[in-house]
Amino acid sequence: MKSVDEARAEILAAFEPIGVDRVALLAGLGRFLSGDVLAVSDAPPFDNSAMDGYAVRHGELLGATRERPVVLPVRGESRAGGPTPPALAPGSVMRIFTGAPMPDGADAVVLQEDTTRDGDLVHVREAPRASLNVRRRGSDLRAGQRALESHARLSPGELGVLASQDVASVSVFRRPRVAILSTGDELRDIGEPPRAGSIVNSNAYALAAQVLEAGGEPWVLPPCRDVLEEATAAIRAGLRADVLVVCGGVSVGEYDVVRDALVEAGVALEFWKIKMKPGKPVAFARAGRVPVLGLPGNPVSAWVTFELFVRPGLRKMLGDPRPERPRVRVLLGAALTRSAGRTEFARARLTLGPDGPIAHLSSRQGSGSLPSLVHVDALVVIPAERETLVAGEWLDAVLLTDYPSR
Ligand code: AMP
Ligand code: MG
Repeated sequence: MKSVDEARAEILAAFEPIGVDRVALLAGLGRFLSGDVLAVSDAPPFDNSAMDGYAVRHGELLGATRERPVVLPVRGESRAGGPTPPALAPGSVMRIFTGAPMPDGADAVVLQEDTTRDGDLVHVREAPRASLNVRRRGSDLRAGQRALESHARLSPGELGVLASQDVASVSVFRRPRVAILSTGDELRDIGEPPRAGSIVNSNAYALAAQVLEAGGEPWVLPPCRDVLEEATAAIRAGLRADVLVVCGGVSVGEYDVVRDALVEAGVALEFWKIKMKPGKPVAFARAGRVPVLGLPGNPVSAWVTFELFVRPGLRKMLGDPRPERPRVRVLLGAALTRSAGRTEFARARLTLGPDGPIAHLSSRQGSGSLPSLVHVDALVVIPAERETLVAGEWLDAVLLTDYPSR
């Protein structure tokens, strides 16, 4: 049996970006650039003032102090979006506003707050150094320089940078299309009349939501029965996607046909058991470039194994340079005793205590209990060999929501 870390590494290695989309700038939000973006123009595009005040020649104000202000006439004005200002006449200052172009000849801006206006004259009480309050053309970015790197995540700040560079559309990695195939004679869809022993195919919805949440495009296939030929045909259909997720039927029971169906469909199985709880039976296979994951049918196991093994792969396909969820240290909220052997991923809510996040484990950790998936903040990682854990000890946790706040 594989350890969780071995399995994760092996599975992640099978996922690579699958192509590129050109999308309008705003539609790029949350996506990842598929190549560097070079600046097409200098930023800022011209020398301009960082403040409201007066454009000056600093050499004409060398001795200015509060007690002995230098008095100069005001000639002209430069405002943001206004007409190009004339050159600054020697022995004068020019009224200037934030973002306005610096007039030729001026080399500094004195703050309005350091002056007193007196009709056409201004009393300057500070001696500025050269370039004070001046934003130089190209000081942020020069035309031809790299504005953003390949694989950069497009957040609002990055979109602002691109917009400032006249970029109307961006090349981002494609969203993977993920086929979801549920197996089981007992499954019915929402609203279908119940049969004896039937249950709703809730996994199809939870998994589709997990795909969407990860940034992929779910393609929910009709569920198939526990019949080898049906499962084989459905798997063949699902291989037209970028990733195939099969759920249920991967265990050792007589009706668990998925592993045989994968072989029938010509898909080479790499492994099918991971030393973990919940979710021991996880099959991993590759059909050419298409990673195939067989997840356990138990809703909790399916949900956890998707989180741990499928989501990072989808993030990698999307170009995310950090495809894994963040890992944080948490304090165990209450003591617990368990049997050693498998790494456990315990569902927990987090609160913020004085020493850090406190993990409150769900009272029901059984893999069949769907309501235990409500309001899960983290999966607390309990190392395989541990049997008794004490309240207040530090453990690793996979953070699924925001870091807790007070
Ligand atoms: P399996 O992995 O096929 O042995 O299924 C394990 C358990 O999960 C059984 O109780 C199934 O009824 C249940 N199960 C399997 N598939 C689904 C599904 N798509 N939605 C909800 N429960 C399921
Ligand atoms: Mg089944």
